[in-house]
Amino acid sequence: MMNFRYILVKGFLLLAVMGGLIGMKAIGFTKKIQPKLKSIDVNMHHAKSAKNVMPVAIIGSGPAALSAAVYSARARIDTLVIQGNTPGGALMGTSYIENWPSRTKILGKQVIDELTEQAKAFGATFLHDTVSRLNLTEWPYKIYTEGGHEITALSVVIATGSTPLTLGVPGEQEYWGKGVTTCAICDAPFHKDNDVVVIGGGDSAIEEAMQLAPYAKQVTILVRKDHMRAAASMQERLKEYSNVCVRYNVELKKIIGENDHVSGIQIFDNKNNHNLDLPVQGVFLAIGHEPNTELFKEALRADELGYLSIVGRTQQTSMPGVFAAGDVQDNRYKQAGVAAGDGIKAALDAVAFLQDHGYSTQMAKIITAQLFDVKAISNERLQISMLKSNDEFQQAITKNQGPVVLDFYADYCPSCMRMLPDLEVVAHNFADQVTFYKVDMDSAQELATQLHVKSIPTLLVFEDGQLIGRYNEAMNKKQLHDFVGRFIKV
Ligand code: NDP
Repeated sequence: MMNFRYILVKGFLLLAVMGGLIGMKAIGFTKKIQPKLKSIDVNMHHAKSAKNVMPVAIIGSGPAALSAAVYSARARIDTLVIQGNTPGGALMGTSYIENWPSRTKILGKQVIDELTEQAKAFGATFLHDTVSRLNLTEWPYKIYTEGGHEITALSVVIATGSTPLTLGVPGEQEYWGKGVTTCAICDAPFHKDNDVVVIGGGDSAIEEAMQLAPYAKQVTILVRKDHMRAAASMQERLKEYSNVCVRYNVELKKIIGENDHVSGIQIFDNKNNHNLDLPVQGVFLAIGHEPNTELFKEALRADELGYLSIVGRTQQTSMPGVFAAGDVQDNRYKQAGVAAGDGIKAALDAVAFLQDHGYSTQMAKIITAQLFDVKAISNERLQISMLKSNDEFQQAITKNQGPVVLDFYADYCPSCMRMLPDLEVVAHNFADQVTFYKVDMDSAQELATQLHVKSIPTLLVFEDGQLIGRYNEAMNKKQLHDFVGRFIKV
């Protein structure tokens, strides 16, 4: 009898737990993978003989990375932020944020600028470079950059964020940068009086639609379900825009083009089971993001979707002294404020890790001479002149010997702004062979129209007055170097 009752109680408890788990899953809680911490020999004395040492190396430059930098630098621990290909991260492409704690309305770029300033004020240093490889098999860890630097990291904070997803439908690649994009803030001005569509039903889709509305004739948000996932307050804001509408139960199947630019799309109405064609000149994708974990997936434990796994309530990854913060490990909240909180936790974890392993003021003094010194790096750059008028343009492409590269940009375009410093380095490298100019879209719209520039950034290459090359996507330093190098006669 006793045993039977015991079995009944145990069975009931088991059912209750299972029921609870199923319920949790239904409301969005999935079981987090708890990574087992690998063991590694951390001997602080090894730091004394290493070169280019950095006690806290932060990879990324969004709110998670910058908040981490504020905390570790304020703890008086030398901190380096390796900014990556997208300084400022995804927030740079967001217009106003209404839920950044303590601010009712603030531009995404302003959040980044203020955090950067704060981190610098506490002594954090910044490297405009991208990590190409890490060695996390032995401590101290090694970080290698595209710019050729090798940094010895005593602790690492990974805050590499996520990348917008693409659909993979026919026409998407072919018309990328020719009407298809993920950046409304960059390309909205090219869609004056156009009909455009935004794909997706989240906050990003609404954000993109609001950025397009002042320019486009009609903006249609295409949602695959019968409802949007976006926050109710964001959906409410759409009502202020008379030229924005939402079409439900539709899936994008194909992007069609004419004269090298998007001219229409084919969509599938999954409620009425039929295809239909829509004439549009712009397709803006806002279908979510995937974590940027390519560099770490060999060394660190990740979940089935690729998000880095962390231990309990810490930001500890599966390697001691390596912490992750922000969207790279967060498939649930994906909020700037949450990323900032993760960054703070990661920095506190990193500081505790260093102290637990013998890092002290004394040790900081000993390794001062071996610290990675950003200031000493002569990342030499060439100031690029600006072209403002058609006359200046005509002179530039006829008077200069050799190739002439024009970079069409705008300071509200995040990918343009992150490409400019790299272009200045490339301009320095090719100083004797190629002439570079930048063209601000805001002050040279006529020239842009005349040269059929329909998205930014766009690079045009001229020689002897003739257009010989065009590229209308963002490039990193290496890609820019290779692209420009192609036009040099040997
Ligand atoms: P989300 O993951 O929130 O939404 C993605 C949307 O794209 C969903 O509606 C999804 O549909 C749809 N989608 C996914 N795949 C496809 C597909 N193949 N075809 C058609 N539709 C597809 O991503 P967001 O980028 O919108 O937002 C990410 C995070 O950033 C969120 O947490 C959001 O709150 C935050 N954010 C906040 C902003 C702000 O506060 N100002 C601005 C922008 C983002 P389905 O619902 O059917 O899965």
